[in-house]
Order: sequence, then C-alpha cells, then structure tokens
Amino acid sequence: MIIDLHIHTKPTSRCSDLDPVELIEEAKRIGLDGVCLTEHDKIWAPDAIHKLREEHNFLVLGGVEVTSMDGDILVFGLEKEIAGIVSVGELRKLVDGVEGVMIASHPFRGAFIEGKEFFIPGLTLSVEEACKKPFLKFMDTIESLNGQNSDLENEFTVKVCQKLNLQGTGGSDAHSHIEIGRSVTIFENRIENEKDLIKELKAGRFKAEVFRQ
Ligand SMILES: [Zn+2]
Ligand SMILES: [Zn+2]
Repeated sequence: MIIDLHIHTKPTSRCSDLDPVELIEEAKRIGLDGVCLTEHDKIWAPDAIHKLREEHNFLVLGGVEVTSMDGDILVFGLEKEIAGIVSVGELRKLVDGVEGVMIASHPFRGAFIEGKEFFIPGLTLSVEEACKKPFLKFMDTIESLNGQNSDLENEFTVKVCQKLNLQGTGGSDAHSHIEIGRSVTIFENRIENEKDLIKELKAGRFKAEVFRQ
C-alpha cells in the first residue's frame, strides 16, 4: 500500500494551502492508497477523519507533527494535543502511554552536511556524528525521504538510517496539491486504520520511496 505519511492541510495548519478534499482527490488521481493528516501540533477529531474516509471511500489517517525542543516529530497514536513545547524524552513518555509511534521529521534539514556547496569547515555534520545525536534514541524511526528536503538532505538521511539499521519512512510534507506524493511509504500489508499503521511501522514492514518528482 502506498501511503503519504506526512501532509498539512488548511485551515488547521495555517501554513498550508491544501484543502483536505482537494488532497484526497489528487491522492486518488496520482495513485496513492492513503494519506495521513499530520498538522502542526493539532490533532483531527477521529469522527472528522472517519467522515472524510467514508465520504470519499479513501484511506485517511490521523497523526500529528509535534514541535518539540529537539525538532519536529511525526507522532501516530496520540489522541490529545500536547500543551506547550516538550522535550523528546517527555514526548516519548506520552507516546508510550498510548502505544504510539515517534518518527523524527526531516531531522537533518538545513544541517551543515558534508559536501554541501556552502558548507562551513568546522560546522560540517558527518553521517557518524548525525547517528550519535541524542534525540535519535527516543525515536522509533526517522523520516528518510521528505518531499520538502533537498536531494542532498534526503541522501544524507538515508545514509544515517542505513548506518543505524533503521527502515526510514517517506512523506511529502505537502502544503499544496502539486507536492502530494513526492515521497511516500510503501507498506507490505494492508492498512485500514491508525492501529494497523502503528503496528506496521513498529514492525518495520515498509520502505520509503520517491513517488512523484
Ligand atoms: Zn516539519
Ligand atoms: Zn511537516
């Protein structure tokens, strides 16, 4: 199943220009099997998600992109929004309490990556150094392909995943309809709800791919 795991819609994510119905129509048109609504720090009501699923006969799943002290984290399983900005350790406790999943979103976006044209000597981040970043030990996995990242940022993150033996996820981080499906996660098994999604993510039965250039 081809699912875009990381999408922002309006008006819940104020930075987004993408209407949820427009999202579903475009996702169907390009051949996705499902989409996840991962707004910034806001969680869709389960009945609103259910309504979208039923009305459009399409898999729509709820998640959230939490702004933590250690960067953005994609979370699945949370039902209540988090008040204020927390550390990844605090977030892990809350997510464990609901048996959810935590994925570091675009963890090295904007990092001083080796080989980057304008890299500054002394501030360069190597794959080995990236693997030792303390926040990573709180994650179930890492988003290895993000549709808003540069190719270099994605290539770097894929290398980090390989070194840590993690199966990275893919998501477009779409804020407009042409960005939907730029990166996706391909699951081996059928997913019908958030519970199935969490189970498959925890089991590592998926891979990240670039779907639409
Ligand atoms: Zn983000
Ligand atoms: Zn995002």
